[in-house]
Amino acid sequence: NTEETQEWLQQYVDDWVAFYRKHTGDGHVASYIPELKNADPDDLGIVIIGKDGMSVKSGDTEIPFTMQSISKAITFIVACMERGVSYLLQRVDVEPTGEAFNSIMHLEMKQVKKPLNPFNNAGAITVSSILPGDTSNERLEPVFQLLENMLGHRPAMNHDVFKSERDSSTRNRAIGYYLLEVGFLESDLDVTLETYFKQCSIDVTIDDLARIGMILANDGMDPKNDVEIIPRQIARITKVLMLTCGMYDASGKFATYVGIPAKSGVSGGILAAVPPRVRDESMPFTRGCGIGVYGPALGDEGNSVAGIRLLRHIATQWDLSIF
Ligand code: GLU
Repeated sequence: NTEETQEWLQQYVDDWVAFYRKHTGDGHVASYIPELKNADPDDLGIVIIGKDGMSVKSGDTEIPFTMQSISKAITFIVACMERGVSYLLQRVDVEPTGEAFNSIMHLEMKQVKKPLNPFNNAGAITVSSILPGDTSNERLEPVFQLLENMLGHRPAMNHDVFKSERDSSTRNRAIGYYLLEVGFLESDLDVTLETYFKQCSIDVTIDDLARIGMILANDGMDPKNDVEIIPRQIARITKVLMLTCGMYDASGKFATYVGIPAKSGVSGGILAAVPPRVRDESMPFTRGCGIGVYGPALGDEGNSVAGIRLLRHIATQWDLSIF
């Protein structure tokens, strides 16, 4: 009976969130973007939305936070939809780097003809340069449109975080100039960087992330009305990138211990897409689900420290790994 299932799921998830909240002390809130320092390190929350409409929410579920690197998945999708998959893949590769997200080391290697993937900063800034439009707002319009199609409401940009990153990010400017120098940028550098800083500053909640994850898990279709929001091929490539490059340098460990396509950001959010599974019908969410997690205290590799442990626990208990 659905009501009973819902009740025990809620009970379990509440217990796990309470338990893993104690782990937030093992991490630190990101401070290199000054505005992000204001987050409360003890926050932890999760939302799970099933394809069948079942959902579980627990902990700090209402707090808005900026997408940061999670936006890289969205702009990649939009750029593919606007310019075509082959156009994109000629300009950005789909290989993990094994380097920090803001590294430019590999760009200097002679055999590298394009950024290694759209989820490190070099690749993401290149993608922002490929989005059509003369101004950052024009380039982000289809990004907001896609988000609105998925969420049913239009998210807002956090101007304080945008300005904070714009005025502090010497590193991303350096990456931008390097991309310009080697000819990887498709358009004006200043507009491109402004686009990138703005996309990173879009405010979401974990409910929003769970909804996006659920649509990705469902191959780009909205299960409510069977409308295709993201073409299947693009949804598939995005999930491949999430699995191989989505969790910074911990992507291999995350695939091993959790096994779900996911993308995290330095604000402490994680977007996860759990495809349908048929191994054990008695497990919850066997038809697939999306998961949003928020926990701004980050571990050494830049992922929410308590959020990762919570996801690992849930994935193990409910056999969510795709492998
Ligand atoms: N806006 C951030 C930066 O470029 C995003 C980093 C991240 O979330 O990994 O530094």
